[in-house]
Amino acid sequence: EIIEFNRFFNRIIDRFEMSKSQNVHFERHLPEEQYFVEIDPDKLTQVIDNIISNALKYSPEGGTVRFAMTVEEGALQIRISDQGMGIPKENIERIFDRFYRVDRARSREMGGTGLGLAISKEMIHAHGGSIWAKSAYGRGTTIFFTLPFEIDDGGEWE
Ligand code: ATP
Ligand code: MG
Repeated sequence: EIIEFNRFFNRIIDRFEMSKSQNVHFERHLPEEQYFVEIDPDKLTQVIDNIISNALKYSPEGGTVRFAMTVEEGALQIRISDQGMGIPKENIERIFDRFYRVDRARSREMGGTGLGLAISKEMIHAHGGSIWAKSAYGRGTTIFFTLPFEIDDGGEWE
């Protein structure tokens, strides 16, 4: 299915913004332009839902979750950042493994199975994109993913 990504992404963010119970601020840095992507919207929704729920789960009281999107090397690059506890450098690659959770004690408290990011990685790869994380332990985490978009060069000459 061909979807305009900006609108699709904003709707998911809106849904979280309306239903969140925590005192966490949302900040959007999204372009004005439209970008068309060929995606399975249900699967992409699942990916983004998991990343946002993780960001909220680990956000401190009064923290900010930041949403950003730019075009990098011909693909959309989407970034979702939080100001949570972060992930130690030595564990950062493993958060995309099945059942991996950084710290058993804190994870038990938070609930979940440790499958969310493993599934997200499979789905992003199936869409021709990639997914990775950057984190400063104690200061926050950013999840990055990319999606190829359709080049629409017809409009300008009409
Ligand atoms: P599930 O998504 O299946 O409910 P989960 O959230 O624990 O469970 P993942 O989404 O795969 O599983 O995340 C794996 C682990 O990576 C988490 O348990 C957590 O330890 C760590 N993690 C993921 N996102 C963040 C984040 N934003 N800040 C800190 N740690 C994170
Ligand atoms: Mg999760």
